[in-house]
Amino acid sequence: MEKKQILFATTNEGKLGEIRAILEGTDIEVISLKDAGIDIEVIEDGTTFRENAVIKAEAIMKATGKLTLADDSGLEVDFLNKEPGIYSARYCGVNTPYKIKNRNILERLTDVPDEKRTARFVCAIAAAYPDGETVTVQATMEGRIGYEETGLNGFGYDPIFYLPEYGCYSAQLPPEKKNEISHRGKALRMMAGKILENTIKEKRK
Ligand code: IMP
Repeated sequence: MEKKQILFATTNEGKLGEIRAILEGTDIEVISLKDAGIDIEVIEDGTTFRENAVIKAEAIMKATGKLTLADDSGLEVDFLNKEPGIYSARYCGVNTPYKIKNRNILERLTDVPDEKRTARFVCAIAAAYPDGETVTVQATMEGRIGYEETGLNGFGYDPIFYLPEYGCYSAQLPPEKKNEISHRGKALRMMAGKILENTIKEKRK
């Protein structure tokens, strides 16, 4: 069976592994920028997660002619007017360790009661098709900012993100559980569904 290749605009092996696992057993093969020998820097100057995902996917699709997926994600803290948001990676400086970024958020929430500590991880994914059509999906994982860094799994803001439904911090979840409930896992599954639907439609044409 000839596999249909899609390009995932990421260098993150974890994200690649996740989407490959979701699409296993289908006739879609996901290749990375590295696999495709592409090294393009795209300036993500959008104002929303969705806009940034679209900017990245469309720029790389135009350079390669291939169906391209790109994602953008981050943490929104309601009490901080949804900061750090699209600036999550750059918050307090791009090279600043997460220990410091996390401490800074905890300090800005000193004395803020539980009900005002609501927050969410957001993930937007765009698929740019070579015919010019671009499809997007967006998903969230809802929770609140805890009181101290807890847990050793995950990355980034996971140690300060408390999940009331599960009674633990995101950094305490085993990776498979996080993939099942996370903003990125949900968005990847939604996008995989859309791509498969489109492939089936194309075959019917
Ligand atoms: P990216 O768009 O996936 O590279 O994510 C941007 C930034 O958002 C990351 O560098 C993290 O700071 C934050 N982030 C996104 N998803 C997660 C998550 O699942 N856990 C912790 N931090 C996250």
